[in-house]
Amino acid sequence: MNAAENARLEQFMDGLQRRNPGEKEFHQAVFEVAATIIPYIEGHPKYEEARILERLTEPDRIIIFRVGWEDDEGNIRANRGYRVQHNNAIGPYKGGIRFHHNVTLSVLKFLAFEQTLKNSLTGLPMGGAKGGADFNPKGKSDREIMRFCQAFMTELYRHIGPNTDVPAGDIGVGGREISYMFGQQKRIVNKFTGVLTGKGLSFGGSQVRTEATGYGCVYMMEDMLKHVGESLTDKVAVISGSGNVAQYAAEKLISLGAKVVTLSDSGGYIYDKAGITMDKLDYIKDLKGKRRGRISEYAKEFDVEYFADKRPWEVPCDLALPCATQNEIDEKDAEKLIKNGLRALSEGANMPSTAAAMELLQKAGVLFAPSKAANAGGVAISGLEMAQNSMRIAWDRDELNRRLREIMTNIHAQCVEYGATDEGVDYVKGANIAGFLKVADAIIAYGVM
Ligand code: NDP
Repeated sequence: MNAAENARLEQFMDGLQRRNPGEKEFHQAVFEVAATIIPYIEGHPKYEEARILERLTEPDRIIIFRVGWEDDEGNIRANRGYRVQHNNAIGPYKGGIRFHHNVTLSVLKFLAFEQTLKNSLTGLPMGGAKGGADFNPKGKSDREIMRFCQAFMTELYRHIGPNTDVPAGDIGVGGREISYMFGQQKRIVNKFTGVLTGKGLSFGGSQVRTEATGYGCVYMMEDMLKHVGESLTDKVAVISGSGNVAQYAAEKLISLGAKVVTLSDSGGYIYDKAGITMDKLDYIKDLKGKRRGRISEYAKEFDVEYFADKRPWEVPCDLALPCATQNEIDEKDAEKLIKNGLRALSEGANMPSTAAAMELLQKAGVLFAPSKAANAGGVAISGLEMAQNSMRIAWDRDELNRRLREIMTNIHAQCVEYGATDEGVDYVKGANIAGFLKVADAIIAYGVM
């Protein structure tokens, strides 16, 4: 970046921070994008003249609401619900709902901003949004979860619709929660529409949606390796998380011949040196999905090491797939990964690497797929769930698998087109520019609004 571009970046970020005080996750996500978009804009002044960066970093609308519900003891509880409708320039708002005690407006604004560029990268007509609540589902009974989901939807329903805004799952929101919310929305509006994605297969859900984010994240890694003449075979992979994304990233890696040696949760990580097999993965799916247990139980069951309160980045590996949460790889973790010979990293979670970690990894020559490209497979199949719902048809698994593979290959190709440098492909730059252009051109076409 030259001095003029640097000055423009500083001036832009000063303004953004002034307008959004204290929202550090949002600042971080915007900075990562602006640092690659500003140099591009210098050569394409129409985006600067139309003030696209300023407009694209101001959400279309934010809805904040109270969610009142009753727990099993009869206590009245109040949580805060949100929906950030970030941008609908290229399609209806689309993005997940997160239930986690650390949900804040800053976290949801960063996720909605990222979602806008990610959805654009899929090539499907979807805008960007994100929502959620500071509700902690851990330890809640099934009935409490149901009452909370119903109360959340009793407010949210008036702001969403199949052509307006189509939420989906995210951390703490899986098939069970989507079903409760979909049922409540259907009951209030008395219409059966594709207003949420990630639904059950018997009521409008799509094949391959559950697997799509994890599988897509591995496809992205496979394509990066293929681009430099390498493959996944016999590579040792370290994965964080043990939820939806982590489970299916592990499944796809194992089936493509890599060896997965770790999984984690918020309590710590397990290190299975012999490699996690498909049978052991079935145990994890049951443990985390049905029994809602802790990853430490895996260590006892299979007699492997468990490291409490630690993250798996200290384990020697060729491949790293952070699939838990934001900012889970910091500078120190990145240093350890590089020292241990990391070859490629594909971000399953949203913004799991801090800015400093990302810079270190890229400088060290690690193939680095940022989340907006690497985890776009989930929302891509959600987009196809919307298409199937509109047409009132259901494609089969093979068809959806084929489409997912094709979409990920296309995302990789866009990253190469816009991110090629003398040293190789800068996937961060490529994903940012390719995602930005489609949305920016639509905003310009609509005139000033
Ligand atoms: P799940 O709720 O299924 O799993 C989340 C996993 O991450 C759990 O193992 C959880 O552990 C762990 N985790 C959550 N917070 C923390 C934390 N602060 N520290 C350590 N571990 C933590 O969520 P998903 O798998 O759906 O989502 C994981 C990531 O992928 C998120 O960043 C999400 O935004 C992103 N993503 C998900 C998509 C999807 O289709 N599901 C699509 C695109 C992105 P514990 O059980 O202890 O809570």
